[in-house]
Amino acid sequence: MRRLSIIVALAGLAAALTGAQAQQLTEEQTLSADEFAVNNTWFVLYHELGHMLIHQFGIPVLGKEEDAVDNIATYSLLAQQSPEADQALTDAIYGWELADSQVEEFEVSDFYDEHSLDLQRAYGITCLLVGSDPDGFADAANYMEMDPDRQESCGFDFAQVEASISALLQPYLGTDQPISVVYEDGGEVYGWAEEALKASGVLELAATDISASFALPRPITIRATQCGEPNAFYDPETEEVSICYELVDMYFGMIAEDMLMSDEEDAPQG
Ligand SMILES: [Zn+2]
Repeated sequence: MRRLSIIVALAGLAAALTGAQAQQLTEEQTLSADEFAVNNTWFVLYHELGHMLIHQFGIPVLGKEEDAVDNIATYSLLAQQSPEADQALTDAIYGWELADSQVEEFEVSDFYDEHSLDLQRAYGITCLLVGSDPDGFADAANYMEMDPDRQESCGFDFAQVEASISALLQPYLGTDQPISVVYEDGGEVYGWAEEALKASGVLELAATDISASFALPRPITIRATQCGEPNAFYDPETEEVSICYELVDMYFGMIAEDMLMSDEEDAPQG
């Protein structure tokens, strides 16, 4: 069975801190960390749905499929034209940047992995954002220290991705197939992640978006579940997209740690 996972590179990182350190967050920080975790998961969900579209329709892919589906995810969220989806994209940039900052030393396998490096993934999203709306996403691109020339040429990157996605998916537009969303029990450890995903409605939002846009040949299930690892998968055999509660938890842990470190840096000295 072939399973397409999003973040081999991230597996094993973070996740360690949620318990004790999470309790040091203020209520406001906790809410903001919840939102960050859900937003990054929203991006990952569209990444997996990108794998699904490629496999259901047999769409040709030149280059890394993992890069292609990051582009589909970014384009799909931009197409929502909502402040929430825009925020999810800038949170995804920061999520990949944080993941990169946790890498102490690269190994050879990082360079031949199916996925681009975390920081490259951050810049892939940044480029399409600033390419689609140079003024609207200038802050994100400047934060990422992308120089003005590259910000400008990202306009071509975005136009090419937009034209390619439109041309390749055009034959499959339609509304034939509903997509079901299932939440497995998050249990004692991940119950909060189950509740946070449910409350956000992002799984249902993505399901409605995709089923209202494409004539999928087969029914799809999006399943939020415990997987034993912080990851997400599309399984072409069962036509299921699995979103692991451990992934939501990992993103929460990453941003919580980042918040606590910033608090320490900001604290008065002496
Ligand atoms: Zn993937």
